[in-house]
Amino acid sequence: MPGPRGASTLVSMTQTGSSRVVVAGGGVAALETAVALRRLAGELVDVEILAPSREFVYRPLAVAEPFARGEVQRFDLERLAAGCGARHRLGSLRSVDAEKREIRTNRDVPIRYDALVLALGAAPRVAVPGALTFRGPEDVHAYETLLAEAESGRVSALAFAVPGGVTWALPLYELALMTAARLQETSSALTLVTPEETPLAVFGNEASAKVAELLARKGVAVRLRTYPDAFEQNALTVVPGAPVPADRAVALPRLAGEFVSGVPQDGDGFVRVDEHGRVIGLDGVYAAGDITSFGVKQGGLAAQQADAVAEAIAAEAGAEIDPTPFRPVLRGLVLTDGGPTYLRAEIGGGRGGTSEAAEEPLWWPAGKIAARYLGPYLAEHAGLGYSASNPAPRA
Ligand SMILES: Cc1cc2nc3c(=O)[nH]c(=O)nc-3n(C[C@H](O)[C@H](O)[C@H](O)COP(=O)(O)OP(=O)(O)OC[C@H]3O[C@@H](n4cnc5c(N)ncnc54)[C@H](O)[C@@H]3O)c2cc1C
Repeated sequence: MPGPRGASTLVSMTQTGSSRVVVAGGGVAALETAVALRRLAGELVDVEILAPSREFVYRPLAVAEPFARGEVQRFDLERLAAGCGARHRLGSLRSVDAEKREIRTNRDVPIRYDALVLALGAAPRVAVPGALTFRGPEDVHAYETLLAEAESGRVSALAFAVPGGVTWALPLYELALMTAARLQETSSALTLVTPEETPLAVFGNEASAKVAELLARKGVAVRLRTYPDAFEQNALTVVPGAPVPADRAVALPRLAGEFVSGVPQDGDGFVRVDEHGRVIGLDGVYAAGDITSFGVKQGGLAAQQADAVAEAIAAEAGAEIDPTPFRPVLRGLVLTDGGPTYLRAEIGGGRGGTSEAAEEPLWWPAGKIAARYLGPYLAEHAGLGYSASNPAPRA
């Protein structure tokens, strides 16, 4: 693996001033950037993480909590930052002055940078009015209530809705599969409604066929090529076709980026970047993760974008490294009531036939979010353990 220059260079760079990198965000892309930078550039960089929360929340296991199959993990951000030689500053990014290489926070504090990384994630918005929008940890309790109602027989038909424009639908498939398993003794009817051509189509043919098989085995009916619209009067209205009768509907949110003054963003708040994560039109500014306009919003891809950014910044700072561009590989661990299923696909185009599905891990550590640096880092520093038989990380 490429690394920082020799120790004597590092010391002199530290004394003469290393490159000051500000990473705005405290999630997957931000931490992956920070850990990768330390590994790749050593003391050539001085890294500060600006984030509004004191915690890093590992969200994918929110789908497992209602079924007591895993817990959302929360880690102290200051400790995680310190563990990779970075600092955590509490605050939110408000504006960027790329000419001055200066940002301002919500407290109007000016901070100078040599390189700025936007890793602000994206905010969930209701996409199917009337449905329970499952955003993550904040909706676990509401989902548990719904599950209890279904178990008691008060709710017997459930619709699961993937809204148009949502490309990372795996959490909803997991909820549908685990709910079907939980309700197998009841006469509940579960229907998954999605605009996709095939279930989890983003993973390609082989993986999608496996997901279709899992749904069929659990008796979940699927309405493909169908856009959910709204849930009202015991029906999910859809386009095209007849409404789906249901007592309750559960939907994924649509994501939108937060607007930051001085940053070019599209109408949904997303930021365009080149293949090394450089923000188009802003010198010295990079972006990674859900905030970017890349079509699939997923933790593993956020980490891969962060790796491309870290390599580009490390090279700029003087590390002997030839930066690799972002070449997306999608990895998804599907939680079911039994063992997990691992899905993998290269999604960059022109690399057909890469779709895979397996009962054994297709990557390692075999966590929900496959991140080259952050995965092993969390396992080592925060006790987030992985094993083939227990892929749901537990602290
Ligand atoms: C229920 C659920 C299940 C999921 N399952 C999977 C899965 O199985 N596998 C997978 O790979 N991905 C999964 N994901 C997606 C994954 O969690 C996200 O794609 C990933 O977290 C995106 O990383 P990010 O760093 O871009 O954003 P985030 O991780 O959301 O981090 C954004 C950070 O920016 C901070 N921030 C926001 N505004 C500002 C500001 N103005 N200034 C400074 N900081 C700011 C936030 O506080 C946060 O710390 C799931 C998501 C959910 C909700």
